[in-house]
Amino acid sequence: MTVSANDSTERDPGKPDAGKPDSSKHVLVVEDEPKIGALLRDYLAASAFRVSLRETGAGTVEWIREHAPDAVVLDLMLPGVDGLQICRALRALPEPRIANVPLLMLTARVEEIDRLLGLELGADDYICKPFSPREVVARVRAVLRRAAPVDPGKLPAVELDEERFEARVRGQAVALTPVEFRLLRKLSAQPGRVYSRQQLMDALYSDHRVVSDRTVDSHVKNLRRKLGEAGVDPIASIYGLGYRFEWSEASPQQA
Ligand code: CA
Repeated sequence: MTVSANDSTERDPGKPDAGKPDSSKHVLVVEDEPKIGALLRDYLAASAFRVSLRETGAGTVEWIREHAPDAVVLDLMLPGVDGLQICRALRALPEPRIANVPLLMLTARVEEIDRLLGLELGADDYICKPFSPREVVARVRAVLRRAAPVDPGKLPAVELDEERFEARVRGQAVALTPVEFRLLRKLSAQPGRVYSRQQLMDALYSDHRVVSDRTVDSHVKNLRRKLGEAGVDPIASIYGLGYRFEWSEASPQQA
């Protein structure tokens, strides 16, 4: 079942328009608990999003292909087809706009988030129930912002030189150890995506030798210090989850 929360602004949802403001962004909420679904729909609609609500997983991938929402808030536990299956199916689609739709996953257990991260589903963010609907709105805004196309006229804050094995921050070389380089490459490959310490360890050490979480933390700390000395701080630590690379335009570009 699909319910439109905001019929007055309903217009052809199949026509994407990258330049439109947040106020007309179309968000699909897939949630089988009617109270939670209605709460999310109302809060998102009150924040001027156009909202569609589905109460079942079945047919959701097809619906998304047809309507191309700007973001999806997806409950993990759904009757029929669950959130994991939907996420996997979406990410495997050939159409980039649909396959890369910003996706916020809702789960009922905080421990579940570690397992989900381990599955590398490619959800952009995770929220544990019970949540504050305001926080969901803020996270939807954040995933939309991160998904916004980067202005091609702007230099990336951090560039990686695979041949020289060095990072450049606004053109200035930053010497990194091989481990720090691999860490930065992994994190920056998908800005906004949260990586668990385990995933980072797997990326850093091909021989899977046993290293502790603290090893990753200390490499991240050193990497952040070196990037910080060059004027950027693009690695965010996400409490209880891991790390993510965030696009940083905080420091004005120096001539
Ligand atoms: Ca559910």
